[in-house]
Amino acid sequence: MNIVILSRNRKLYSTRRLVEAGEAREHTVRVVDPLRCYMNISSHKPEIHFKGEVLEMPDAVIPRIGASITFYGTAVVRQFEMMGVFPLNESVAISRSRDKLRSLQLLSRRGIGLPVTGFGYSPDDNQDLINLVGGAPLVVKLLEGTQGRGVVLAETNKAAESVIDAFRGLKAYFMTQEYIREANGADIRCFVVGDRVVGAMIRQAQEGEFRSNVHRGGSVRAIRITPEERSTAVRAAKIMGLNTAGVDIMRSNHGPVVLEVNSSPGLEGIERATGKDIATHVIQFLEKRGRKGKTGTRGK
Ligand code: ADP
Ligand code: GLU
Repeated sequence: MNIVILSRNRKLYSTRRLVEAGEAREHTVRVVDPLRCYMNISSHKPEIHFKGEVLEMPDAVIPRIGASITFYGTAVVRQFEMMGVFPLNESVAISRSRDKLRSLQLLSRRGIGLPVTGFGYSPDDNQDLINLVGGAPLVVKLLEGTQGRGVVLAETNKAAESVIDAFRGLKAYFMTQEYIREANGADIRCFVVGDRVVGAMIRQAQEGEFRSNVHRGGSVRAIRITPEERSTAVRAAKIMGLNTAGVDIMRSNHGPVVLEVNSSPGLEGIERATGKDIATHVIQFLEKRGRKGKTGTRGK
C-alpha cells in the first residue's frame, strides 16, 4: 500500500514507529506535514498540493493531528476523504473527540460509564453545579485543557466557587465533575485499534498529586484490564467513530468511567510500558480496511 502519515515532524516517536512498521510490511510510507499541504477546493477534481507538487493519492492516510492544529489538520484530512482516500481516523471523528463536552454527551447517550459531570453558563447556577456532582471534594476542569492543565481538585465548596469564579473571569468554559477518590490517582489508558484493545497501561499520579498525566510526573506500567473495561474502551471508541483511540478510564465504585477519548494517542508510553508493537497493529488494521473509496463519511 501507499500510506501517507500526516505529521509535523518525522522524528517524533509515534511517527517514526509507524514509518518503521509500515516499511517492515513492505508498504511505501511518506511523512507529510499537514501545515504544508494546501488545497484546490474549487475544481471538480479536488487536489492536495505539497511543497509545490500535486500529491499523488495514497491508499490510506494516518492523521497525527495535534490539538493545537485541529482546525487546519482536519481540513487536510477531509480533503483526502473527498478524494476517496481511507483515513485511519475520519476528520469528523477527530473534531468530535477534540470537544470534551460533546464527547461526554455522546458517550452518555449510549450508556457509557462517566463521572457525574455538570456544565452550565450562568453564575446564578454555580451552587447547583457543585451540588449536582455531590459537593466537595470535586473536580473543576477547563474544557480546553490538555495534559492535565486546568484540571483542579477543589477540597471544599468554597474553593470550588473561587475556581469557578476565576474560570468565568477568563471567559473560559469549564465543567464540574464528581471526584473519583477511590481510583487513588490512577487511570488506565486503553489503546484501541478497530474492535480490540491492543495495549493497556495504568498511569499513577506522583505523591501529593491527583492527576496521573505523565506531564504532571505520573508513572506508567502495563496492566491487565477486566472484560468490562475492555468493552467500555472499545464501545467508547466506536461511539466516537474512531478506528484508533486512546481511551482513558478510571476505576470508580460505580464501575469503569471514561474520562476522555484521544484521537491521536501517542505510541511511546504504551509501547514502552507494554513491550508491544502497537504500530504494527495500526498498519495491519489499514491492510484490512484501507481501501480507496471506502471512507465512511467523506467529511460529512
Ligand atoms: P487532560 O485531558 O488534560 O489530561 P483529564 O480530564 O484527563 O484532562 O484529567 C487529567 C487527570 O486528572 C486524569 O488523568 C486523572 O488522573 C485526573 N482526573 C481527571 N478527572 C478526574 C476525576 N473526576 N476524579 C479523579 N481524578 C480525575
Ligand atoms: N493530545 C492528543 C489528542 O488530543 C492526545 C495525546 C495522548 O494523550 O495520547 O488526541
